[in-house]
Amino acid sequence: MVAARDIDRDIGGDDMLADIRRIAESVPDPELVVVNVGDLGIIRDLRRDGHAVEIDVTPTYSACPATLAIELAIETAVAAQGHEARVRRVLAPAWTTDWITPAGRAKLKQAGIAPPSPRGDGNGGHDYFARPQVACPRCDSLDTTELSAFGATACKAQYRCLSCHEPFDYFKCL
Ligand SMILES: [Zn+2]
Repeated sequence: MVAARDIDRDIGGDDMLADIRRIAESVPDPELVVVNVGDLGIIRDLRRDGHAVEIDVTPTYSACPATLAIELAIETAVAAQGHEARVRRVLAPAWTTDWITPAGRAKLKQAGIAPPSPRGDGNGGHDYFARPQVACPRCDSLDTTELSAFGATACKAQYRCLSCHEPFDYFKCL
């Protein structure tokens, strides 16, 4: 990344790469809509590749059918601004919900979707199968119960708040 930046600076391409990053990050997630690619933290790197720009994108849930849609949307958005972009799918390191930015978490909560709990320190503190403590996005009560492991999309689970009685989606943590 540092090496690529240095080369771009020599040919005056830093501003262009920054522009393209902004364009790519503003692409909304096709499933969640309320958050964009920047909020999800999935753009890992950008570099010049001849006349084109290669954008490294790590998919959120690799089984998520939205993956291809996001990649196409990024290429289309950048092309619309007159740049040629190619998305390179980067699978390692794998995306985790910890990459979602604080702004992204706030947008999810505002949309009534409980943001994923932090995964912990990675020392075995997180158990994928453990029941997470999920706070209601409306009233912040922790008195919630899972209705269905699969909500509107495979990335979300359906919960119900036992305090305000509202059902809501929980963005499953990964
Ligand atoms: Zn509630």
